[in-house]
Amino acid sequence: MSFRLRFWGTRGSIPTPGSATVRYGGNTPSIEVRTPSGSLVVLDAGTGIRELGRALIARANGSPITGDIFLTHAHWDHIQGIPFFAPAFQRGNRFTIWGAKSLAASIRRVVRDQMSPVVFPVAFEELAATFDFRELSDERHNSDGFDVRAFAVRHPGGALGYRFAAREPGEAQLGTAFVYISDNELRAGDASVSTGLMNHTRPVNVSPGYASTVNAAACPTLTAPMSRSLISAITHKSVGSLIV
Ligand SMILES: [Zn+2]
Repeated sequence: MSFRLRFWGTRGSIPTPGSATVRYGGNTPSIEVRTPSGSLVVLDAGTGIRELGRALIARANGSPITGDIFLTHAHWDHIQGIPFFAPAFQRGNRFTIWGAKSLAASIRRVVRDQMSPVVFPVAFEELAATFDFRELSDERHNSDGFDVRAFAVRHPGGALGYRFAAREPGEAQLGTAFVYISDNELRAGDASVSTGLMNHTRPVNVSPGYASTVNAAACPTLTAPMSRSLISAITHKSVGSLIV
């Protein structure tokens, strides 16, 4: 009953190729998750999803690809890979894109608008795969073999964090869990926000690489003392591998 995570992109704001970013790569956030039942979940759709898409096609060997794409928010670095996600151009593939209900514009509209003819040569409507859009606020959603809970974090324009937990068929009890929080900007005095986050993140194991690259790259304000204590809290039982 474990989740398997692969980090295809970890950078914030803008892709950063070059010798200084070789270790974690220069792509913006996109994480592949294999749930305990083998389902595909993708966390954010930055430029890392481009390489993920190639890998998915190679592994599928002609079979349809299905999956859920959970977007933390609609800032460009979290959605800019979608126009370059090769499985989106293949008929028979199906994806559900999940995003925050609280955005000023719907997640469907933001994803589609970044492919308007003014800025991109292929319209979203021309994609051959089927896309469904679902919106979440602070709530729990049960899916095939896992349970996901969305919760608000502190970020301009709003953003979600996600807690995923494994669930055995027919079992009410949840198993292994991990939390994904990309952009989060706590400040001194955010005690209620940080307390809420602590409740959502306890107890989980998170890779230290995840915390230091995704969060720090995406959010310079994480150097604030309160944020540092949050990171240390969610990494209190750090794991070296990407299996949680
Ligand atoms: Zn952001």
